[in-house]
Amino acid sequence: MSVQDKIIKASHIIDMTDIIREGNPTLRQVATDVELPLSDEDIILGEKMMQFLKNSQDPVIAEKLGLRGGVGLAAPQLDISKRIIAVLVPNPEDAEGNPPAEPYSLQEIMYNPKIISHSVQDAALGDGEGCLSVDREVPGYVVRHSRVTVEYTDKQGEKHKIKLRGYNSIVVQHEIDHINGILFYDRINESNPFAIKDGMLIIE
Ligand SMILES: [Zn+2]
Repeated sequence: MSVQDKIIKASHIIDMTDIIREGNPTLRQVATDVELPLSDEDIILGEKMMQFLKNSQDPVIAEKLGLRGGVGLAAPQLDISKRIIAVLVPNPEDAEGNPPAEPYSLQEIMYNPKIISHSVQDAALGDGEGCLSVDREVPGYVVRHSRVTVEYTDKQGEKHKIKLRGYNSIVVQHEIDHINGILFYDRINESNPFAIKDGMLIIE
């Protein structure tokens, strides 16, 4: 049975044992395009990936299943070398601790996502980045594009073109890197991890 066959079984819940870690060669491969129209198997895989992100952000479920919290997952992290990513970026609570009106600032399963244009300006998260496939902290600014325009197909088979900035832009770039065999620390300046390039936006 293929890894995908196992993961898309109705009874399967993705947990940390399904996620491969750095050193596994699949994380360094350029993943292959998903065939369109989407197969049921690829649609279910995307839904399972999104469910994992939801579970990982639910304190009770995450504790029970031993999940690290995540805002994005790419199919290669499950040892499936296909161009599929899921992103789930929650909005913060308001100042009084009430839940936000819109729970998520970005919630999408993207098939064959592609950056079709980007800003000249670079950006990095002030706190650096982490990855479910990297079990250690790697400090430093991960230099990315500040703004990107991304084209992708959704699970209904519809094509979209969206503009992203801020944290959402960083998350999607991190996940698209995974389908191109790139890990976040590849983008940290090796000799000076906290170097700030001219005009680089630091996102806090
Ligand atoms: Zn990652």
